[in-house]
Formats: sequence, structure tokens, C-alpha cells
Amino acid sequence: MKITILTFLIISMFTILFSKNYSNEYFDKSKEHHTPHGFTNPFLSDGLQNKNFYDLIKMMREKRPDKPKKIKVEEISSSEIEDLIKKGENFYLWIGHSTAFLHINGKNILTDPIFSDRCSPSQLFGPKRYSEPSISINSLPKIDLIVISHNHYDHLDYHTVKLIGDSTFWFVPLGLKKWFNDNGVKNVIEMDWFESYDYGGIKVDCLPSQHWSKRTAFKSFDTLWASWSIKVEDFKFWFAGDTGYNDEQFKSIGRDYGPFDFAAIPIGAYEPRWFMKDFHINPDEAVQIHLDVLSKKSVGIHYGTFILTTEPIDDPIKKLDIARQKYGLDINDFSDSKLGKIIKL
Ligand SMILES: [Zn+2]
Repeated sequence: MKITILTFLIISMFTILFSKNYSNEYFDKSKEHHTPHGFTNPFLSDGLQNKNFYDLIKMMREKRPDKPKKIKVEEISSSEIEDLIKKGENFYLWIGHSTAFLHINGKNILTDPIFSDRCSPSQLFGPKRYSEPSISINSLPKIDLIVISHNHYDHLDYHTVKLIGDSTFWFVPLGLKKWFNDNGVKNVIEMDWFESYDYGGIKVDCLPSQHWSKRTAFKSFDTLWASWSIKVEDFKFWFAGDTGYNDEQFKSIGRDYGPFDFAAIPIGAYEPRWFMKDFHINPDEAVQIHLDVLSKKSVGIHYGTFILTTEPIDDPIKKLDIARQKYGLDINDFSDSKLGKIIKL
């Protein structure tokens, strides 16, 4: 514990010293989420975005739940996936955390893929998964496109990116293309919020979320974060990425891009609220977002895989149930999903 805190103090010191010493090559002063040094959340004050140093320390010291015994997940085989595809079914498979596979009208889509054991700069330390992926990376069919929400280690995994490489196309928020290119991956389409791309009959829209970015000690908010709308023929899917709540951005996504046939929305990593609230929704806010974006059917992601925050591991499912009751929804409107369970769309 002492080493962790000391390391953190040193990293934070460097972060403070160097954090604004880079410039944003994409800076467009007409855009409210751009800054000369990176990006910002238009609906959060600067004070709320740049956490105070003592709050960071206090949060680091909060007790996290004990890691449960590794949950054995019944793996889906490549033949099960191929059978469904042959039958022409549209379906969703939650692989773990924010990694999901979707087959929509003949197209294979993957979100924030992480198949590594740890979400960390190194596989020697850092949060270790307690649920195995529900399918191995080698059992997946050829993927048409992958969307990446932002550069945090639980959403952008170096080893997974290296394994998939240029066998597909990666859609990333502004500023992340360089990281892919530096790691030898060239098939990357980088987009700003509200930009659209027509990719072989798939309409991809890069849309806002309320979050931040950080991958090294020296930079934060330097690359953009995003949610994604993916439309294949008449089916529209929305991937929320990682986000906090505000009552502007999601309502406007619903108004301008909705309704959505299906959405994947985070329901975990939200405690302690005093610290997490601005960047991580809880299940109640997840249901509000489901309603704001006009999703017909949603599933919870971003839980059940790594321990990143302080809520008990079964809390997201309990709180989602309470939120469903509060908003008069049933389990088919917003389900907590199950690892390895195919949801037909
Ligand atoms: Zn994140």
C-alpha cells in the first residue's frame, strides 16, 4: 500500500509539472470541447474536471472490495457464432467489461476490446480480471470495425490492439490515431464529435460523452473521448463508452441521432460518488441516459470484470434493478446482461 501511494505521489507530481506543456494540434476555437492543450467537457466546470490532489489521495485510500474467486464463464465457440451468423440473426454478446461483439445486418462490430488479464500499463501489476472473456479473441469472426471510446487502459489495451492489428478498421476519437500508428496499426479512422463516416454501408457517428483521457504520467485530457452511433441499414446501435451524466449531451444525442434500437451503457465503476460522479454514471444515471438517447433496449457494460472502484461487485445489478423500478422499465428494456449470453436483437 505504501509503495502504491508513493508511486502515485511521484506520478502526480510529474503530472502537475508537465500536464499543460503540450499543445493540441487539432485545436479549433469554435468548438467548445477543444482547448489549446487538449479537450474538455463542456458541461463540467474546470474545478470539477481537474481533481484536487488531496481528493485523489483520499480516493486512493478508500477500501476496495476483495477480489472474488475467478468467475468461470462458459465460453462461446466460433461455431456457435458462425451458426447464428449463417441464420442471419442480429445479436449481441457481452465479452467482458466494455468489450462487446455485435452482429448487425451482416456486419461484425467490436467495442473497446480488452482480452488481456490486466488493464494496466504492464501485465505484471494493476487490476486483474476476475471473469474470463466469454469468447476467445481467436474464436471471433472477421470484424468489420471496432470503436474505441478513449485511451484509459480498461478500454484501450495494447496487447489486444497488437493481436487484431490491421485485420479490421479502428474508429477512434481525435488524437488517438498517432498511438495506433506508433504501434504499427494503420487502419485507423480518427474522428471528432459530431463527425460522420460512411464505411462500406455502415454509418459511423462520433458523439460526445462526459469523460477524460490519460495514458501516461505526463498527459491528461490530451486525446478525445467519445460515444459512438453505428447504423447498419435500418438498425441503429449506440455505444456509450465511459461517461458521467449531464442533462444536455444525451438528450441532444437522442434528439439528433436517436432513437436507437439498442444501446450498451456503463453500469459499474461509480463509487465513491463524491469522486466518481462527474466521469462515471451509476445505474440510475445509466437508465436516465437510456431514456435520454431514446434507446429501445439497453444492456449494462463496464462491470463484472475488473475491480476499479469501491462499490461491491454485485451492487451494479442491484442498483439497476432499483432504477428499473423507479423509471417503470422491465428487464427487457434495460438488462444487466450476462457474460456469454447471446442477446438476440
Ligand atoms: Zn475511462
